Amino acid sequence: MVITIKSNADKKQFENLLNWIESVGLQINLSEGENYTVVGLVGDTSLVDISLLRSLDIVDSIVRIQEPYKSANRKFHPEDSIIDVGGHKFGGNHFQIIAGPCSIESYDQVLAIAKAVKQAGATILRGGAFKPRSSPYSFQGLGIEGLKMLVEAKRQTGLPIITELMSENFLPYFDDVDIIQIGARNMQNFDLLKAVGKTRKPILLKRGLANTIEEWLMSAEYIMAGGNSQIILCERGIRTFEPYTRNTLDLSAIPILKEKTHLPVIVDPSHASGLSRLVKPLSLASVGAGADGLIIEVHNNPECALCDGAQSLRPEQFDDLVKAVDIMLPIVNKERDKE
Ligand code: PEP
Ligand code: MN
Repeated sequence: MVITIKSNADKKQFENLLNWIESVGLQINLSEGENYTVVGLVGDTSLVDISLLRSLDIVDSIVRIQEPYKSANRKFHPEDSIIDVGGHKFGGNHFQIIAGPCSIESYDQVLAIAKAVKQAGATILRGGAFKPRSSPYSFQGLGIEGLKMLVEAKRQTGLPIITELMSENFLPYFDDVDIIQIGARNMQNFDLLKAVGKTRKPILLKRGLANTIEEWLMSAEYIMAGGNSQIILCERGIRTFEPYTRNTLDLSAIPILKEKTHLPVIVDPSHASGLSRLVKPLSLASVGAGADGLIIEVHNNPECALCDGAQSLRPEQFDDLVKAVDIMLPIVNKERDKE
């Protein structure tokens, strides 16, 4: 339920209303804009007497939110949420490019790629230490050792880092990680969502392999219900009948999400396509559709990559992509951090 408060509302009456909402066991999500104040009520609102609330002088309007997601709903928080990652902002008219290898393979590898992507314009470094592989016989990632290499690359380059968390057990090792990635395969791992909901770190929540936008927003809701609202959504393609690409990039998810939620949305064209030659066109299409950023796999030697070489760009291809994105950004009224 969302209560819009009149701009000239009496402060005392407003306070009384907030106290009453809390006294009946509901949580308050306050969004104060320039011309309005929106009070979101989270919890079981079925017993709230709408006509009684409507009769209050300070109340302008009341809407029951039909969608099952509340905190993530744009009706709750009409303005874009801005998520700050080490000074780099996602949302609004900000645009960020995250880049790096699929997996951390060695310290030299991750450092060389980190320097190259930074030089080209990436503001955040990605690298997987714990890899969710479809086969138990495939490279599983370097684990904690890999994480240490990523943290060292952060120290050397100054780039904030993002890496995937597959199990709550490894959360104690994530202190130096700037964004925790919840991968597609764990989008509905509700215990993991609850665990990261208790942290106060930004979370990159990837869309599940075959999940609807509503299911995806409900997963965001799980994290928000724990008190962490720093969520960036990532469209990474969904499974369809089409075999020419690894997944099908759901471009329409971007403008739909912009309507439905205030959370920023970025796109992963690498996992969406599985093919390096598609990464640039899909990136440009994503910018055009209103994405708040991109996450791109880059490898200095894709032929020998231990994971996802076919979809990884070489540093010079990444450089070319960033230049093309920069040409498009003014058209969608977005600006990329320059360092
Ligand atoms: C990844 O980012 O390396 C990854 C495994 O992505 P996804 O969860 O989208 O498959
Ligand atoms: Mn990958």
